[in-house]
Amino acid sequence: MSHVQLINVTKRFGAVTAVNDLNLKIEKGECFSMLGPSGCGKTTTLRMVAGFEDLSEGEIHVGGRLLSSRTKNWPPEKRDFGMVFQAFAVWPHLSVFENVAFPLRVRGLPVAEIEKRTRDALTSTNLFYSAEESPEKLSGGGKQRVALARALAINPDVMLLDEPLSSLDPHLREEMRFEIRDLQRKYGFSIIYVTHDQAEAMALSDRILVMKLGVVQQIDTPLNVYNHPINRFVFSFIGLSNFLTVTRADFQFQGNALSLPEDMRECETLSLASRPSEIDFCDEGELRGVVARKSFLGEVVDYQIKIGEQELRVQKNRRAPGPDVGENCGLHLLRPFWYEGEN
Ligand code: ATP
Repeated sequence: MSHVQLINVTKRFGAVTAVNDLNLKIEKGECFSMLGPSGCGKTTTLRMVAGFEDLSEGEIHVGGRLLSSRTKNWPPEKRDFGMVFQAFAVWPHLSVFENVAFPLRVRGLPVAEIEKRTRDALTSTNLFYSAEESPEKLSGGGKQRVALARALAINPDVMLLDEPLSSLDPHLREEMRFEIRDLQRKYGFSIIYVTHDQAEAMALSDRILVMKLGVVQQIDTPLNVYNHPINRFVFSFIGLSNFLTVTRADFQFQGNALSLPEDMRECETLSLASRPSEIDFCDEGELRGVVARKSFLGEVVDYQIKIGEQELRVQKNRRAPGPDVGENCGLHLLRPFWYEGEN
């Protein structure tokens, strides 16, 4: 059996179905991210795994034990999961050491064990020399490390992380991502990570779940979610995306050039999806447009191309040659995706 297993889990708040028939298996030592727009049910799912929220339907098993069902909810403090949430949950009146040791004291562990686990967790999170300080003196990243150390000290099998880096600046966020991964390798726990930041999910995860309105859209590796998005929603949520509406009339006009998939030839209206980094400028090309705007973004140049009434973004390395504003250009889509219906 998988380490964490959710079977037909549903959560309703009155008329709102926050999570709808979720099935999920997470293996021991896996980093699993839940990704989706605000309100899609990520936090509710995490809270059900933590035991803070009861289930309307279904079951949650961890390590082969049934922890939650419609009639059962094993209390959070007995689950021994590490948890780190968005807000820096440090106690300002306690030292860094005591912040980390406190949950162990509540559990009634022997003093020597508390000392050892706390010092180990502080060392792993680079806080050893701040042990006697007030956490209030630490930076945002430092406070978030205290929260991580506290979660590590209980020796969790499962670490539940809900947007733990969202209040940090971009540079620190990136650094902390690697630190979380390093800690996971060292301690061997499974991670369930909630974020709405797709870059963070891609960088950290072994697998990603993309959710919309409480319903799973796709569960796969970051590479597969990016390269083989199962529907238009997933395509638009992962990475930068362009969508052009193509009607049957367009297709008849530009038919061969656009090479529509066989099974979509009868559709009246289609969405043609592409990534800005996967479009080449060329003389011929299946599409033609005019450069409406050209912005220098550092490493890349971002082009806004007008195609009739519609727009497409193209991104090219700053060293690559490209047309200027007002010029006509041909475009070749390296990896077009087609979805039924309009944008
Ligand atoms: P965010 O990224 O904004 O945190 P989320 O994906 O984590 O969003 P949830 O917080 O799980 O989404 O919310 C899912 C849905 O359930 C939303 O429609 C929300 O309004 C609703 N919801 C969550 N908690 C409650 C509650 N305690 N009572 C009523 N409705 C709730």
